[in-house]
Amino acid sequence: MPQTVKTNGLVIRETAVGESDKILTILTPELGKISVYCKGVRSIKSHRMAATQLFCYDELTIAVRGDKYTLGEACLIENFFDIRSDICKFALAQYFADLLCEVSVENEDQSELLSLALNTFHILLSDKPLKLIKSVFELRVLCLIGLTPDISACESCGKTAGEYYLDPVGGTVKCRECLFESNSPDTYTSHAYIFIPSYVLRAMCYIIGASKKRIFAFSAEDILLDTLEGVCEKYTLSQLGRGFESLNFYKSL
Ligand SMILES: [Zn+2]
Repeated sequence: MPQTVKTNGLVIRETAVGESDKILTILTPELGKISVYCKGVRSIKSHRMAATQLFCYDELTIAVRGDKYTLGEACLIENFFDIRSDICKFALAQYFADLLCEVSVENEDQSELLSLALNTFHILLSDKPLKLIKSVFELRVLCLIGLTPDISACESCGKTAGEYYLDPVGGTVKCRECLFESNSPDTYTSHAYIFIPSYVLRAMCYIIGASKKRIFAFSAEDILLDTLEGVCEKYTLSQLGRGFESLNFYKSL
């Protein structure tokens, strides 16, 4: 006999199967990332159709048999539908969902990751700059999975002011003097160090250190956001060792 569990969850991927079924990848707080077979939900007669779309946050009843999950009931809490009215926001949300798919794991508490995702999707409905939202989301995701960059001081001399260069592989920073004067050119070219102006470093320190309710509570000039976005994206892709089609699409818009 299958066991029945109730949980909340955010749909982060959908795959059509057969005539009217779907497999949904759902991020839940306690079960982590789960793959749920949803029978008949693409039929217009299905009362579960509205709650089984991408980005829907639902209250779910799921039948569990071994490691197989089958959808029972899905009750919509929030569908973030207005994200779809703006192609840039929709593309960015797709990238966020792909990032969540990449970093979340099964059978582990993922409540902090889910909380960040919901918070970020709510902010996407506001008029906050997308560059700010994207940078914050990427950096906080990495922090939650244990890949926080150590940017508090130069890793070689300990200097805490000025301009730095981030090692996107090691996740540490070096000051200009330490990077260019103490190393052979091979060292900095092999790691493709990223220049970080001091004002961008301060923004990154804020994002890393802020309480989860305050992560988006800063404003910034366009020039800062351009650089911040570049640094956070390079660090994210370097740490995860891959790119994302959805990110390429977002950037092509
Ligand atoms: Zn130094």
